[in-house]
Amino acid sequence: VQGRFVDVALRLALPGPLQFSVPEALLGRLVPGQRVLVPLRAGRDVGYVVGFSGEPKVSGVRPVQRALDEVPQLPPDLFALVSWIAARYLAPIGLALRAAVPQAVQYEGLRRAAARERLVQVASLLLPVAEAGGLAAQLARSAPAQSRALVSLAAAPSGRLPAAVLNRGALEGLARRGVVGIAPAPMVRGVLAPPGEILPPVEPSHAQAAAFQRIGAALAGETARPFLVHGVTGSGKTELYLRAVRELPSDRQALLLVPEISLTGQLISHLRRRLPFPVAVWHHQLSDGEKYDLWRAARRGEVRLVVGTRSAVFAPLPRLGLVIVDEEHETSYKQEETPCYHAREAALERARLAGAPVLVGSATPSLESRRRAAEGAYELLALPERHSGIPLPVVELLDLRLHRAPAPVSGAPRPRGAPEEPRLIAPPLLDAAGEALAAGDQVLFFLNRRGFAPFTQCRRCGEGLRCPNCRVSLVFHAPEREHRCHYCGYRVPAPETCPSCGAPALRLAGSGTQRLEQEIRRAFPGREVLRLDRDTASRKGAGPAVIADFEAGRADVLVGTQLVAKGLHFPRLTLVGVLGPDLLLNLPDFRAAERAFSIVSQVAGRAGRGDRPGRVIVQTLQPEHYALRAAAAHDYESFYAEESAFREELGYPPFADLVALRLDGADRDRLAAAAESIAGRVRACLAAETAAGRCRVLGPVPAPLERIRNRWRSQIIVKARPLEAAAGPLRAETRRLQEAARRAGVHLLLDVDPVSLM
Ligand SMILES: [Zn+2]
Ligand SMILES: [Zn+2]
Repeated sequence: VQGRFVDVALRLALPGPLQFSVPEALLGRLVPGQRVLVPLRAGRDVGYVVGFSGEPKVSGVRPVQRALDEVPQLPPDLFALVSWIAARYLAPIGLALRAAVPQAVQYEGLRRAAARERLVQVASLLLPVAEAGGLAAQLARSAPAQSRALVSLAAAPSGRLPAAVLNRGALEGLARRGVVGIAPAPMVRGVLAPPGEILPPVEPSHAQAAAFQRIGAALAGETARPFLVHGVTGSGKTELYLRAVRELPSDRQALLLVPEISLTGQLISHLRRRLPFPVAVWHHQLSDGEKYDLWRAARRGEVRLVVGTRSAVFAPLPRLGLVIVDEEHETSYKQEETPCYHAREAALERARLAGAPVLVGSATPSLESRRRAAEGAYELLALPERHSGIPLPVVELLDLRLHRAPAPVSGAPRPRGAPEEPRLIAPPLLDAAGEALAAGDQVLFFLNRRGFAPFTQCRRCGEGLRCPNCRVSLVFHAPEREHRCHYCGYRVPAPETCPSCGAPALRLAGSGTQRLEQEIRRAFPGREVLRLDRDTASRKGAGPAVIADFEAGRADVLVGTQLVAKGLHFPRLTLVGVLGPDLLLNLPDFRAAERAFSIVSQVAGRAGRGDRPGRVIVQTLQPEHYALRAAAAHDYESFYAEESAFREELGYPPFADLVALRLDGADRDRLAAAAESIAGRVRACLAAETAAGRCRVLGPVPAPLERIRNRWRSQIIVKARPLEAAAGPLRAETRRLQEAARRAGVHLLLDVDPVSLM
């Protein structure tokens, strides 16, 4: 029996839902996930029903004005997912709903709705596809335009195309024949129709066939465990995904999550060439109108496959039959604002709720995922070799200590009088690049730092140029001749003299991709060099254009940051040079070695994917580091063993769970005082669990990046095993902790399973 009071979550940063009374007419008719119109101060707003109670929590509870939908707008599984995210990630349910539902959907049908479905003239085939083909053949001579239009319609999904893309006269002719209808209909933006020709399936390797047998069993409902697809670079993980999607019954939908949409152009065009139905692409850069269209089409079950980033985990697919998380180790799956959910974890829960098989895939699985496989929570599907017998590239670790004194990428100041041009690329790598280029091959250089020089220091007084808003060095950008902060975007024209002492003694130190590009252009005059980093990729479409140019062989050398490491396939690329892995290894974060191993393995995996073998040269000051040694040997298991031992000893994930309480404030002293007081509350609330040995509260300590955007930053870290030992008590305390933070004038973010502690 439903109570007379209903909890309604609004699209607002409130600590919890608001309570309203249920009017007589709606008693017993409201369900969770349903939209209701409720009074809010002088106006009103649209919220979702999230729960019921028999008693008012405060006096003066106002009634719900009306229910907006007969059928709840939020399907039960999505509502359950949103509730799960709010609970697990210690977030108010209103904010979890805001992350899940596009604004235009929540306000659908009301005047505040920003978007409406767009109707266009749509031509649709009125006869079966086979007959259309026969008619097209008959008309090929007498009415060639009508014949071509028929062929296009027969190839289109459900025989429908926007009338505007077809010859108008031909359509009118076909309409007169009674074989095509033309009528206004909703046209979905954001869904890509399949191209005319679909490529046939590829013959699977032995490992692929064995893996697919297991996936097939899951699709048939014979096994329910998630799969971890651990496939080396180039082993054909995508092929497995494709086959699983293709073999789904046609009334089922699939969801494929990818870490970053701008870098998945190659994947999406590959999918489209191989799947005979439309693919919907879902990401945060879609307009409100596009999201609205996609949501509606998905809800109607018209979309067979949604490919998307993090937020696509909320796509309303009524008969979800398969969930795939590609590159599951990627940190971009983590949302860094409330709710701080991890899309891989949300996808697992989504699949569980729908009873759908799930594949999480990577060439370098996260320690969390690999351990779950070791414990039997996942079934491991290994693809240990590259597809079609191409060998993995040979990886050499080049000891920079043997080639020259401190590497410029370390940022160490150069002694006075040293040559003006520091050589970033050690001679053996330079020679190898020259040979590869002479052989007509392509070369990739990786350096995970953009800009020209990461530090600028005065040779007289020793002061460095720092961001006035953040406690970090400014990075010199050569094309614009300015210094920029990579955290807050502050920029200033390059000064001639030291701002501290006035001496004309400023010196650029260290190296980023711009300096590397310059050095490569000097070393190989006449060669086409492209650069791919956040600076060159920030313009819309620029990133994919660089990738397409390099793929088409319009350039010889590609220089880039980790943007070049992800899933790209260049058949003519035979040499990869990795610079500065030490930068990754030495970050003050417990996942530094894992990130370095993953990025070096992934970028090395770009080499030799065509018919010529690949070679990778990693220049480093730490060639004996286990992460680099394992990456060079393509030995994930030894890395996993060594890294696991370290994590277990220090009580880090996957051997414990973390909750980070991140605090920031404008005033350093007030923040420090507030952080101490909040840490005291956290310790008190977790005292019993701490005494039982299931929790440890660390801090507060200043964050490694102590000041960003004029805000001082501090963090409290809770280690817990199991997570609920900390999350349970903290969930009950969240409202009071937030209240204490607000009173102290600081901002508090609760981050469960943080991926970065910077
Ligand atoms: Zn100075
Ligand atoms: Zn800054």
